[in-house]
Amino acid sequence: MSKETHAFEAEVSQVLKLVINSLYSNKEVFLRELISNASDALDKRRFRAIQEPEVLAEGEELKIQILPNREQKTLTISDNGIGMTHDELAKSLGTVAWSGSRAFLDALSTSQDARQKDLQLIGQFGVGFYSAYLVADRVEVVSRAAGTVEAYRWESTGQDKYTLERAERATVGTSIILHLKEDQSEYLEEYRLRRLVERYSDYIPHPIELPEKPAKEGEPVTLAAVNRASALWQRSPKDLTEEQYTEFYKHLSHDWEEPLCRRHFRIEGTQMFAGLLFVPKRPPFDLFEPEPRHGVRLHVKRVFVMDNCEELVPRWLRFVKGVIDSEDLPLNVSREVLQDSKAVKIIRKQVVSQSLDALEELAKEKPEAYRDFWKGFGAVLKEGLHFDPEYQDRIAKLLRFESSSREGLVSLDDYIEQMPADQKEIYFATGASRELVKSSPHLEQLRKRGFEVLVLFEAVDPFIMQNLTEYREKKLVSAMAADLSLDESDSADAKQAETTETSGPLLEHFKQALDEQVGEVRPSKRLADSPACLVVPEGGLAPHIERMLRARNESLPVTKRILEVNLEHPLIQKIGSLCASEAGATAAADWMKLVYDQALLAEGSPIDDPGSFAKRMTKLMTIAAEAELAHGA
Ligand code: ADP
Ligand code: MG
Repeated sequence: MSKETHAFEAEVSQVLKLVINSLYSNKEVFLRELISNASDALDKRRFRAIQEPEVLAEGEELKIQILPNREQKTLTISDNGIGMTHDELAKSLGTVAWSGSRAFLDALSTSQDARQKDLQLIGQFGVGFYSAYLVADRVEVVSRAAGTVEAYRWESTGQDKYTLERAERATVGTSIILHLKEDQSEYLEEYRLRRLVERYSDYIPHPIELPEKPAKEGEPVTLAAVNRASALWQRSPKDLTEEQYTEFYKHLSHDWEEPLCRRHFRIEGTQMFAGLLFVPKRPPFDLFEPEPRHGVRLHVKRVFVMDNCEELVPRWLRFVKGVIDSEDLPLNVSREVLQDSKAVKIIRKQVVSQSLDALEELAKEKPEAYRDFWKGFGAVLKEGLHFDPEYQDRIAKLLRFESSSREGLVSLDDYIEQMPADQKEIYFATGASRELVKSSPHLEQLRKRGFEVLVLFEAVDPFIMQNLTEYREKKLVSAMAADLSLDESDSADAKQAETTETSGPLLEHFKQALDEQVGEVRPSKRLADSPACLVVPEGGLAPHIERMLRARNESLPVTKRILEVNLEHPLIQKIGSLCASEAGATAAADWMKLVYDQALLAEGSPIDDPGSFAKRMTKLMTIAAEAELAHGA
């Protein structure tokens, strides 16, 4: 085979351009990324050897070697892992496997400050290999895939194209040869490399070897392992330092910050397994992608089996990173087996429970940090109310809300603590934005009575809250719901009955004037200062949600809503008086339409016919101005 030249996929070229031209000072991340790839390759070879023993000869030790060469100014990172075939080289190092690089480019196109941080995250975006170009102006990859005899060399200066050709390699595995840039010769120093490996890669479960001392001409180099190469999660927590946990976490997550909290546990029951779980400080970029990556890796008896293991963590905990190491699962377990394995169900239960424990502890001991967690991940955790009713109570305890009457975030427990004696239920309100919900007329009576209302404004909220109907034996009630019933004293009820009698005709007039717009008109108990508001009949969608869905799917039927009018309001009473005469009733119809439009505006909905609204408004203002003038004169 002669030398082939290939062009990089456009997005790869863009990533490379960014990496090559970056003024980023913390270039050492390249070593962490390349060691991480080598370690993955070793894991894969060991895993494949379970089914195909010939893939790994008995006695062959899996390891990573780091070899600086001063004369050539190269640094080689070599492994005897799974290796890559010709096609795999082209695919893995020339194209992007998933949307990661796009997101990476987007993240980096923001401020210089963000750029500094996000470059460190390169591994999270699935493009860690290209960090080699932070320190090298040319990279060679010589690889021989397990089970094959030919080796291939991939080579590129990172400028739009790479070459592929046949090469010699005596053993299975991959060598990454970095031709270091002029100013990067520090990565030829053994002591510098040693320090980096000690710091970043102590937890890598394979030996990482470095020359024992600087190579002298003519003398053979002796290599020695620098790291402990043991499974960190199998060690006892008391033998581990904070720093070791943090570095292990960074390895797993490609994060640059320490984790927010962690849980290290060992279960010895019908299933034996160890686990080490972390919650990150900040949401990863793919948290809300349709196919987010789940962060828990599965090992069986210390052997890595698979990452991104959805069977072990529910979607609503997809931000949890970590390792589960089972003693009982078969080593050759497949995804299909995992899906209906009883053992996996037991492990998953434990993962959920440990994660919730960690969050509860954080909420209790570091409320500030928990608040930050909530801002980043609350919307994901909430999904659990819908998908896993089993954990409803525990999730409900972890929920945080904005409130109509206090600054900051409140929990349901905080809410209950502040409830006045005459309040029986927990009230919440949903809408398109914080401001719209807080200023909504629907909350008026509740406010007047001194009842706090939980304010929700994320698109998922109306759906999620349907799943949570009770907390600590108190009903959760939507202030927007058609059936909101505020307890009232008997005398108030009597008064209500009386007004209904006299107001019957008025409501009938409203109904006629707004026949096309609303399904029903009725007196309201929830209003205080506003003349009217609109509510959704049971089973209907909140207006902002309906709009959002309609934007995607035109065939959604229109729900006619209920207009609630405030019979105590002077405007409504005056309209009532107008209706008494025939001439007045015609004018009143215009006013009623305005009352309806105003109710739409107050809840943040667009009005159906802005032109007519403006005309009516002008007419009314003219009348008002004339009256004012007559008054003043
Ligand atoms: P990621 O590790 O997130 O997949 P990278 O950019 O670091 O992204 O690596 C891209 C791919 O290149 C890897 O998924 C792997 O298939 C392949 N690869 C990189 N380094 C090695 C290696 N040392 N041995 C085998 N395959 C490798
Ligand atoms: Mg990688």
